[in-house]
Amino acid sequence: MEQRLERRVKRERAARKQAEALLEDKSRMLFEANVRLEKLNSELENRVSERTRDLELARRQAIALSEKDQLTGLANRRSFLQQLEKMLLTTQEHGLNAAILALDLDHFKNINDTLGHHAGDALLIAIAQRLKNLIRDCDSVARLGGDEFAIICPITEDGFSVERLADRVVQTLERPVFFEGKSLEVSCSIGIAMAPTDGNCPTDLQRYADIALYCTKERGRGAWTFFEPSMGEWVEERKRLASNLRVGLDRDEIEVWYQPIVDLKSGKTVGVETLSRWFQPDFGLVGPETFIPIAEETALIYDLGDIVLNKACRDMKPWLDNGISRFSVNLSPKQLKDRHLVARVAEALARHQVPANKLCLEVTESMFLWDQEAAKQRLEELSDLGVRIALDDFGTGFSNLSQLRFLPIDYLKIDRSFVCDIDHDQRALALVKAVFAISNGMSIRSIAEGVETAEQAEILSLIGGDLAQGYHYAKPMPFNEFEAFLKGNLLRAS
Ligand code: C2E
Ligand code: MG
Ligand code: MG
Repeated sequence: MEQRLERRVKRERAARKQAEALLEDKSRMLFEANVRLEKLNSELENRVSERTRDLELARRQAIALSEKDQLTGLANRRSFLQQLEKMLLTTQEHGLNAAILALDLDHFKNINDTLGHHAGDALLIAIAQRLKNLIRDCDSVARLGGDEFAIICPITEDGFSVERLADRVVQTLERPVFFEGKSLEVSCSIGIAMAPTDGNCPTDLQRYADIALYCTKERGRGAWTFFEPSMGEWVEERKRLASNLRVGLDRDEIEVWYQPIVDLKSGKTVGVETLSRWFQPDFGLVGPETFIPIAEETALIYDLGDIVLNKACRDMKPWLDNGISRFSVNLSPKQLKDRHLVARVAEALARHQVPANKLCLEVTESMFLWDQEAAKQRLEELSDLGVRIALDDFGTGFSNLSQLRFLPIDYLKIDRSFVCDIDHDQRALALVKAVFAISNGMSIRSIAEGVETAEQAEILSLIGGDLAQGYHYAKPMPFNEFEAFLKGNLLRAS
């Protein structure tokens, strides 16, 4: 019995030990599992916070990118408006004025067209850097897109002058940028709006600065202009004219007028320049200085050019070899870029049976702002057709004289700004004489433009002038008046 009891105790002890060992084992496993779990947990927490950090960084980068212009690193249009809003609040608070400068590069497109986008991009980057260097810490500069930039600056009371800043921007951007051995040159035009004088709303101010910029471009580029309320009306009027021009062309509202070109020696009318006029029912007579730029902007210049050329061929046909040896038609730079120009000209000549050598096309030096080689080639194609070429407004443009050697130029038209001074300014006289010497030496005929007095005509004749045109002989006139003028001229000559 005792033995049985002993065995039972032993068995129970052994069982308890086993249970205890098992329990210990399980608690160890549980502990280890707990440790692993904790580790996993902290790893997970780490990963989550890392991921959150990455996401935050990415979010910040995305915001920065959406506020920056990718090419130049300047603020973009979106953040510009925000900055403008902020600055206006601050300047208002401190009772200060602020200026918004809208900037646009002149003829930037030519760089892209002729030297490629890499060159254009390099120029934009260099210009952005120059602008950054020009402004103060409290100013902001942005690239609004393409070749448009903007600067905003508070007018602080430490002698800061927005006029001086605008001058410096114009001068600094005119300096050439060197890229792959080439010198890239542009100029810039600026429009300035002032807060609170012109307004306090950011979008209005931006629009006013744009309007002023538009006016700068119209007045001659490479300069700056302050916004004036009257400019808004002018721009509105131009917009209304632009939307009316298509209708005007369809309704045959464009007339061609004629101004005689006279032989200085004999005083006889030998040629004629065609000058277009637009009779708009609401606006009355609109001059070419107004509607030609509009026609260029709206690409209506091609249709307008066809109309003028065809009317001139039709009107002049009976007068050719009957007093008039040649008639001129003006071409705008955009027309010269037209691939179909030569075909258009050939078609008009054929339709009216006018020999090509009776037509002279007048081009201006600004065509060289386009691709020089392409311009030269287009002129050569026209010349091969037999058409004569005149370089109009000579002396006012951008060309250098060496170009004359390589271009098929038959006439040089000396600009009115020189001719009008020859009777009282020795320098103007010297310049005109020099142009005569050049044209004589190169067998190019000269036409003095804008001759207004008998004295000027006499001087021109004395110094070896060839042909002349101007109010002294006759103003541009409608065809019926011109016919009467020609008849009188022929009678006098016979
Ligand atoms: P332009 O070709 O240099 O024409 C001469 C301009 O000077 C004409 O102005 C003419 O009326 C003006 N003029 C002529 N003699 C005198 C003078 O003695 N004194 C003064 N003060 N002015 C004189 P208009 O007709 O207003 O034409 C202005 C410009 O518009 C032209 O300059 C020409 O570049 C452009 N244009 C005119 N018609 C056309 C056209 O059909 N197509 C194109 N693309 N351009 C045209
Ligand atoms: Mg002309
Ligand atoms: Mg001219």
